[in-house]
Amino acid sequence: MTRNTVARIDLSAIRENLTRVRALAPDSLVACVVKADGYGHGLQHVVPALEGADILAVATVGEAERCRQLGWEGRLLMLEGPSNVDECRAAVMLSCELVIHHDSQLALIRKAEGASTRSLWLKLDSGMHRLGFPASEAGHRYRELKVLSEHSIVLMSHFACADNPANPKTRQQIQVFDEAVSGLSGPVSLANSAAILNFTDSHRDIVRPGIMLYGVSPCPGHTGEDIGIRPVMTLQCELIAVNTVKKGQSVGYGGEQTCAEDMSIGVAAIGYGDGYPRGLKQGAPVLVNGRRAPLLGPVSMDLTTIDLRQHPDARVGDSVTLWGEGLPVEEVAAWAGAIPYELICGVTARVRSVVSQA
Ligand SMILES: *Cc1c(COP(=O)(O)O)cnc(C)c1O
Repeated sequence: MTRNTVARIDLSAIRENLTRVRALAPDSLVACVVKADGYGHGLQHVVPALEGADILAVATVGEAERCRQLGWEGRLLMLEGPSNVDECRAAVMLSCELVIHHDSQLALIRKAEGASTRSLWLKLDSGMHRLGFPASEAGHRYRELKVLSEHSIVLMSHFACADNPANPKTRQQIQVFDEAVSGLSGPVSLANSAAILNFTDSHRDIVRPGIMLYGVSPCPGHTGEDIGIRPVMTLQCELIAVNTVKKGQSVGYGGEQTCAEDMSIGVAAIGYGDGYPRGLKQGAPVLVNGRRAPLLGPVSMDLTTIDLRQHPDARVGDSVTLWGEGLPVEEVAAWAGAIPYELICGVTARVRSVVSQA
């Protein structure tokens, strides 16, 4: 028997979420972002489900290699671009398109035979100040890439604050970008999930959704349901003990959480060793047999303790949902002082995935 701590992966949801992206950005190609093992959902599940994508986008060459091994023959983009000659050569062998964001990468492209046989993506820094050439260098860098590539140069940038539609930063970034590339020709790609939702004028030729495809909202205070998408991952386990703990007794490591009365405490087979965050505050919700119950006591490596006062019928073997269907990961993340991206990417290899198609 295996431990029943599982990530249920609903592949029909990921397909529907892609359809939703297409409805929101009908005139754009969709580069589906599957970095970090498909945001923790398992590339082996996500890649076949996204067969309708126009492009798959990964962060690293290792991820690109796995996409090819999984049978993806379409356009493949490496968002970080190469950081050494070996990576550059490997990416060329995999027919990857490369993001070029730094001077140091131009030398790699020149060294790696054939690096110019796919589109290069010129990444400009329009105000996020993480990766990208300064906007003022756009024309000069464009001409450098043109010499290296017989293909069109994709002009790209990335937003820092698109999750908040009221933040003026995104419009400023769009303006900086548009001024920088005026007179340069090539497809344009700006929008992550948040910008797909909040900034229609950023859609342009190619959108780059990540988190939305997994049914999770990028915008604080909203859940996927609010924006017409469905969670792909539901993290579940079982109760492996139900105990009575006396009034005034403490529960778990540290002994700081005490029972206000004699109460029933459920012990669920999940902990931070599975990626369930230790930072969750007291009272954070789980679902026991589909109904809410609050945490009581700290999350430990393998186990989590739950206040079952409202669940007198709960028994060993009953199902506990940590997030997903019925309990938005966006809400759970807030209880952990985290963003939902961290929670879904953080599920560890110990958690078995159970895939459903329908
Ligand atoms: C991760 C990433 C995305 C996707 O972002 P989401 O917020 O998950 O939609 C898009 N573009 C770039 C460059 C990225 O690194």
